[in-house]
Formats: sequence, structure tokens, C-alpha cells
Amino acid sequence: MRLGCVAKRLIWEISVYEDLSWLLKFGSTAKLLDEADAKVSVFDHGLLYGDGVFEGIRVYDGKVFELEAHLRRLYESTKVIRLEISLDKSKLVAAIKKTVEANSIVDGYIRLVVTRGAGTLGLNPFICKDSTLIIIADKIQPYPKEVYETGMKVISATTIRNHPLAIGPQLKSLNYLNNIMAKIEALDSGVPEAIMYNHEGYVAEATVDNIFIVWDGVIFTPPVETGSLEGITRNLIINLSKQENLEVIEKNLTRFDLYVCDEFFLTGTAAEVIGIIEIDGRTVGDGKPGPITKRLKEKFFEYVRSPSK
Ligand code: PMP
Repeated sequence: MRLGCVAKRLIWEISVYEDLSWLLKFGSTAKLLDEADAKVSVFDHGLLYGDGVFEGIRVYDGKVFELEAHLRRLYESTKVIRLEISLDKSKLVAAIKKTVEANSIVDGYIRLVVTRGAGTLGLNPFICKDSTLIIIADKIQPYPKEVYETGMKVISATTIRNHPLAIGPQLKSLNYLNNIMAKIEALDSGVPEAIMYNHEGYVAEATVDNIFIVWDGVIFTPPVETGSLEGITRNLIINLSKQENLEVIEKNLTRFDLYVCDEFFLTGTAAEVIGIIEIDGRTVGDGKPGPITKRLKEKFFEYVRSPSK
């Protein structure tokens, strides 16, 4: 927690490296550690090769939001890369909740990271005895404060999103370099976010968000197969739209569609719902977040703060 009180930024870290005496030892059980003491081995394959997966999860009113959906996606990712998490699910859930409590997070964000763990130099993942699990509970604000109200400008990135048939975006891996390259393009252009396209030129997603546009009262979003993560916020927005009797169509979108749409917004756990008011110098709609964007944003916050959640 960056409040001049680093001691409060507590992190759970679980690792078993006992047989590898030349590596750092963290002990065999889950420990709540101060940020300064939470260390990862230089031989951790998450660091050496980006061999690992992660989830970003929100906490609203002290409750971990959509934890089941996040864990499901995490376990799908670990299954695909054949990575075992060193805690069973119930202990993992308990550790997540404990970290949130220990950091006194009422409204905040959890970063859950599972890496292959410490091994030797060389790609072989099976040399790594135990995966490393890191749970961080903190605050997050991915974009400048004012854009949440006024809307955000974006550019189209030249860096494309992962080819869906390579390491597809469905796998939430620690490899975010093409998204980082796109983010650099955005920042170099003086805007906070970039839109990424796929290998065929269709709209994929933003660097950490899914994309929606509104055209003639109908909502469109690219199918995940085009090359985007199946966002948990995306799915929620689709459901809320249906509840609001708004039609949602999943269809390939082009840059042209983004230029001429009436409304444009992004969704993500960290970003929540954020209106886009300009892309590549073209004003979206009347240059303000549109009525459907606003309505869905309102419904979104009603939902995440509803007592049953
Ligand atoms: N796309 C990418 C590349 C992301 O990193 C994220 C953030 N997890 C999203 C989309 C939004 O997904 P979610 O709503 O599950 O956070």
C-alpha cells in the first residue's frame, strides 16, 4: 500500500524449495509477508521465462468480486500450461481473503500470480519443484482519474494482439509484452490506452480491457475467438445489457466501425466501465460518454455493490 505504510502491504507467498538448498528458501507453508520480505528466487521461471499465469480481481465493500469466475479462469490457464498450484482451492480462497483482510482492503484489487517456481536455467518446466503463488492486495487505478468521468482518448496500436492460435489471449499468461508495446505506443501518443487488432486486422481488445461499441442502439463486441481475453467484466456487461433489453451482437469489428460508432466503451476488472470519446483523432459520438455507456456503467456499479454479491 503506497501510503507511507509499506508494512501494511502484506503478501501471501507459498513456495517449497527445500531440496534445492542453493536457492532461496521460503518454507513450506503459506505465509503472510511484509512487502519488503516477500521475495522471489532469481531462478523462478516466472521471472526467467514468463512461465506463469495470473488473475486480477476486484474487492468491493470488503467482498472479493466474482472469485469463482476468476478461479475458474485461473485453473483453466494452469491446466493448459500444466502447472500445479501448491495449495488446494479452499486454502487458496482462504489465503486470498486473509490477504485482503490483513491489508484492510475494503475497495481494492487483488493480484494473484502463479509461476512455475524456481528451477535451473533452461526452459524445462518440470525441473521446477513447486510453483510459486503470490497474492497481493492493493489499490489500483489504471487510468488518470478524470477520464472516468469525461471519457478517454485512445489510439490504434500497430502492435497486434497475440495470434489466437499461438498463445491465445484466453490463456492469461505472464507474457504481456505485445500489450506493453501497444501501451508504449499509446503513451507516446499522449493517450492512456491503445486498441489492439488481430493478425487479420479485426479489432481484438485494448491492452487490459475488452471492447464494446454501440451503433444505432445495438451493442457490438468482438467474439473472443478474434483474439481477446474472455473478460469477466465483459460477460457481466453482456448479461446486464440483456437484462436492460439491449441487443448485444458478437461480431468481428473493423477500425472503420470504431471510427463511425455512436458510442464506444471498454470493460475490465481494473478499468471497470470506461467511455471512449476519441480514437485516432476521430471524435466518438458527440465527444462524451454516450447514454447506453452511462446506463450500463450505472447498472454495473449497482450490481457490484448489491448486498447479494
Ligand atoms: N483483456 C486483457 C488483455 C486483460 O488483461 C484484461 C484484464 N484482466 C481484460 C481484457 C478484461 O478482463 P476482466 O474483465 O476479466 O478483467
